[in-house]
Amino acid sequence: MIAVFPFEGVKTAVLGLGKSGLVAAKALMKGGAEVMAWDDDPKRRAAAEAEGVPIVDLMGASLDEVPSLVLSPGIPHSFPKPHPVVARAKAAGLEIIGDIELLARTQREPGWVGITGTNGKSTTTALLGHVLSVTGRDVAVGGNLGTPALSLEALGQDGLYVLEMSSYQLELTVSITWDVAILLNITPDHLDRHGGMEGYIGAKKRIFHRQTRPRAAVIGIDDPICRAIHDELARIGDQVVIPISCEGPAPGGVWAENGRLVDGGTPVLELARAERLPGKHNWQNIAAAWAAAKHLGVQPAQIAAAILTFPGLAHRQELVDTIDGVRWVNDSKATNADATEKALACYDDIWWIAGGRPKEGGIASLAPYFPRIRHAYLIGEAAADFARVLDGKVPWTISGTLANAVAAARAAARPGGVVLLSPACASFDQFANFEARGDAFRDLVRSSPQGEAREGTASRVQQSPPHPSRAESRG
Ligand code: ADP
Repeated sequence: MIAVFPFEGVKTAVLGLGKSGLVAAKALMKGGAEVMAWDDDPKRRAAAEAEGVPIVDLMGASLDEVPSLVLSPGIPHSFPKPHPVVARAKAAGLEIIGDIELLARTQREPGWVGITGTNGKSTTTALLGHVLSVTGRDVAVGGNLGTPALSLEALGQDGLYVLEMSSYQLELTVSITWDVAILLNITPDHLDRHGGMEGYIGAKKRIFHRQTRPRAAVIGIDDPICRAIHDELARIGDQVVIPISCEGPAPGGVWAENGRLVDGGTPVLELARAERLPGKHNWQNIAAAWAAAKHLGVQPAQIAAAILTFPGLAHRQELVDTIDGVRWVNDSKATNADATEKALACYDDIWWIAGGRPKEGGIASLAPYFPRIRHAYLIGEAAADFARVLDGKVPWTISGTLANAVAAARAAARPGGVVLLSPACASFDQFANFEARGDAFRDLVRSSPQGEAREGTASRVQQSPPHPSRAESRG
């Protein structure tokens, strides 16, 4: 754990004692700060206290001589309304910062690569981290993805932090100027937390703040908002601006065309060979990782080879197993229709498991993919609503639980087909988070009667890809 030495002897408030907040409190203490920590959840307070973190009610305590509030990114600091402690801290003039800001203040030498966007952040972060580490760079990969920032290793001047940045984390990070900043895409999401679309775009744009050449901005140009940001930065010309696209040519940049990745006009990779990164959406992630790695000096042939050895991420179209010619795919991370659309677009014969706690907009937007769906197995709170949308177009069953859905899909799916868990919903009605939902799916699939009968045969033993873990609501 990194010691946050710049806060030595300084009274520092910490609000939120989840995974990253608890590490932040301990890293501050290791650096000699006088920590005052709080979480509204008594269980989290008790867990932190058991680890020696001083618990102080930040609504009651004096904030005199407390310059900073370290806030967990999951806690609202502005919209829909600030947490009362944040409001109090703001009124008292405290700076409100996050754990990645603390990392930046202790680590002055290494370089910084930040990845943001509505979708694809984790995949691109993990992919780029993989490319850089297998090609010999000293990297530490984390942030919103997996490892909390202050649990990462301290790096020297040849090191690079590769950090997935949610818009909330960007808002709480003021002193990093990113050497390479990637903005993949922007679609409406989490608008309540940003006071509308303008706020959300503003938070994402912060990733390019203060960049000058040779620092680079890698920007997806496939949605109108990011294209406009690209055009604006290219016009101003402060940093190197590299456009990427999975839809077609992005002059001066990296794009996908006719199933191949093209870099500045030269085809460099057959995209179908990247088996763990299926679908057009992943081509955007590949293009972004390619552009960033190349800007950081990795040779194209090395980047191509590294992309092909990427193991994939758990819960993002993770191929759990192929049983009797049926592929079982865990896309539990798809918590909205937009993400589910990406998965439905990848397969032709789909036995679809969907539902959970519904998101605004439902699944009406998925209608163009309904002809690919042989049967839908609906679970959780959204089941009845989804059934209404599907009725007359796709055969459906209200399965209620994931276990029922898996059992029914197992009985029905035919060789060549795919049983796809891509819920288009949050998981909180039945699971702790999307990871728990995906893990449950994987366990159900692997404990299948057919699977057990064949246990031990090499063909069905599948390694799980690495598990990034994080709260579902961030983005
Ligand atoms: P994030 O970290 O931004 O939430 P992930 O890499 O975890 O994104 O991917 C989450 C889901 O979003 C994936 O399962 C996939 O369905 C979809 N997705 C991934 N990459 C993209 C992309 N570039 N554009 C749109 N959707 C994507």
